[in-house]
Amino acid sequence: MAITLPALPYEANALEPYISANTLGFHYGKHHQTYVTNLNNLIKESELADESLEKIIVAVVNKPEKVGIFNNAAQVWNHTFYWNCMKKGGGGAPSGAIASKITEDFGSFEAFADAFKNAGLTQFGSGWAWLVLEGGKLKITKTANADTPLAHGQKALLTVDVWEHAYYLDYQNKRADYLDIFLKSLVNWDFVNANLKG
Ligand code: MN
Repeated sequence: MAITLPALPYEANALEPYISANTLGFHYGKHHQTYVTNLNNLIKESELADESLEKIIVAVVNKPEKVGIFNNAAQVWNHTFYWNCMKKGGGGAPSGAIASKITEDFGSFEAFADAFKNAGLTQFGSGWAWLVLEGGKLKITKTANADTPLAHGQKALLTVDVWEHAYYLDYQNKRADYLDIFLKSLVNWDFVNANLKG
């Protein structure tokens, strides 16, 4: 049982004009696919070969000799999660349980949005910004490279990929513009609500 590349939850042009089909084509078809291929090559004929992605990530975290497996497995998981964090016609302020939880834990949606954007903007080099649930509280975090909340016992609710490959074709060096658009026009709050509930 190899790890497979899950289908994108929408057409490659569904997020235009905010994220181009060109970006999604490379990001999903090349980057995400490469993590899947690399992971399968690294785990074949090993005791991890038949495990789920989540089990693989937790099994190799903090094991220096398994860092290649961790990086590729975490990147497979992070990207699948990221695709689901966006939808056509998304973004803006949330509704449902996440809306009241954000007000409760951050004071306001605006305060959350500023903190989330700041996490993405200040992640030096490649990585991810996250909204996670930890000990019943919402928290904003950032992780470097492939690192993922799964490795820290946190429940991921929302992420944005801030590797340059996520935005460079559409926004060049303007990571702040990409983060603004992500919050304004792309976030799939239904997915975030489902994660909060699940
Ligand atoms: Mn990426």
